[in-house]
Amino acid sequence: MSTPVVSPHADAPAIGDTRLLIDGQRVDGAEGRTFDVFNPATGELLTRVAEARAEDVDRAVKAARRAFESGPWRDMKPKDRAAILWRLGDLLLEHAAELGGLETLDNGKPFVQARDGDVSAAAGLFHYMSGWATKLEGATIPISFPGSFHTYTRREAVGVVGLIVPWNFPLTIAAWKVAPALAAGNTVVLKPSEVTPLTALRLGELALEAGIPEGVLNVVPGFGAEAGAALTAHPDVDKVSFTGSTATGRAILQAATGNIKKVTLELGGKSPDIIMGDANLEAAIQGAADGIFYNQGEACAAGSRIYAHRSVYDEVVAGVSAAAESITVGDGFDPSSFIGPLVSKEHHQKVTGYVDLGREEGTVAAGGTYATEGGYYVAPTVFTDVTDQSRVVREEIFGPVVSILPFDDTDEVIRRANDTRYGLTAGVWTESISTAHRVADALRAGTVWVNCYGVFDAAMPFGGYKESGWGREMGGIVLDDYTESKTVCIRLGD
Ligand code: NDP
Repeated sequence: MSTPVVSPHADAPAIGDTRLLIDGQRVDGAEGRTFDVFNPATGELLTRVAEARAEDVDRAVKAARRAFESGPWRDMKPKDRAAILWRLGDLLLEHAAELGGLETLDNGKPFVQARDGDVSAAAGLFHYMSGWATKLEGATIPISFPGSFHTYTRREAVGVVGLIVPWNFPLTIAAWKVAPALAAGNTVVLKPSEVTPLTALRLGELALEAGIPEGVLNVVPGFGAEAGAALTAHPDVDKVSFTGSTATGRAILQAATGNIKKVTLELGGKSPDIIMGDANLEAAIQGAADGIFYNQGEACAAGSRIYAHRSVYDEVVAGVSAAAESITVGDGFDPSSFIGPLVSKEHHQKVTGYVDLGREEGTVAAGGTYATEGGYYVAPTVFTDVTDQSRVVREEIFGPVVSILPFDDTDEVIRRANDTRYGLTAGVWTESISTAHRVADALRAGTVWVNCYGVFDAAMPFGGYKESGWGREMGGIVLDDYTESKTVCIRLGD
């Protein structure tokens, strides 16, 4: 397959091999098909990538099963597995400029954010999870059954896991899943979004270079409806972990029923960011603006509903609007850009549809404009005069679009913040320690940030209440989702 390698920027990396990675080999898809990948900064063709069909997913699952059963990874001494995962983290850092550049080409996000944010977070996952490889312990259990017994639990790898990741943080979210899966001794079939497959393929190559045995990490770019669906329905996949929309999460749950796969879901959000009357306003305004506009607002955790106490409402609207207007939107390789283009034409259509809708539902306090040709740009946009029932306030937009709503008292804002089908993250800004704890306790969200927003760390669990998902990513807790607990009960005598 010939792959056009288009590097539209002097400092953009070469794209390299875009074939599937199965059983340690770069291979074309069985049907020889490819799909087009576009540069969101221009709308032009970037490259073509081999398309995995159901047959290729089956090949990848078989390779992962062979690798799991024959045990070069699962049975490796934990300290050796740890050393390889650490090495992979190091390799990501050594290739940070290349990986960051691929992410900018593919996703559009600013290069500095991709290199220093996404890649370093991904490396951090491998470094942190390498430590867990040697610490997956069970317990000895005193039991009361008549007789004498030695009873203990072991934590074992689940088996072959299918990991389906989206386009907003392609490498980072892949690392959220691949690192703990491998630390626990599982083997993996990774399906990146067809919109942003490049860094996942490079991750697979670097994993081989780090010493991960062939077949342990397979990468199969393809469409959700074909490759993703084949992976989630596959009878020999033991577990699926998915990040993406709530609608696709539902389809995945249904597909997983065939062999009762274990499922972890990290889905959408419509996160409230609450600015109390006593907040440090300078910090709160900048933090709330960054909380929605970072990564073009293409973040499940984006603080897309700002609730400001009526006593500071006008100041918050003015401050967040000024922050929005001051942001430079442009090509991700331009160092002055804080916001790049949205990821795809389809997504641009979705977000700009909400911009038009918000104009009808409320008032534009900042932005409200977008490109209609070339790259998929949208200006950071602030809406006011909307209500809790407005669609722009209720629905996940997944772009640089925020609504600011006033509130009068704490009980009221807690009730309104929780009035959503989502429950992923929330923020609260206050100088009162009791308000901070009270609101953090009452918010129905998997993460609550106080006097900060969007702080992520490999050691911090992340995931959602309600329709934002099942299970957690990161932290030690994620290992529960990638291990089975086995109870061994040995009769010693009467
Ligand atoms: P999807 O949820 O459709 O896609 C996420 C991943 O799932 C992709 O790899 C996709 O593949 C795959 N997928 C799609 N359909 C299936 C299926 N039936 N079985 C298995 N895998 C499947 O998100 P979209 O890209 O369509 O984005 C739509 C909306 O989802 C966004 O506007 C945003 O609101 C939300 N979203 C949330 C994210 C989050 O972090 N929680 C991340 C991304 C999107 P493919 O790309 O080939 O379709």
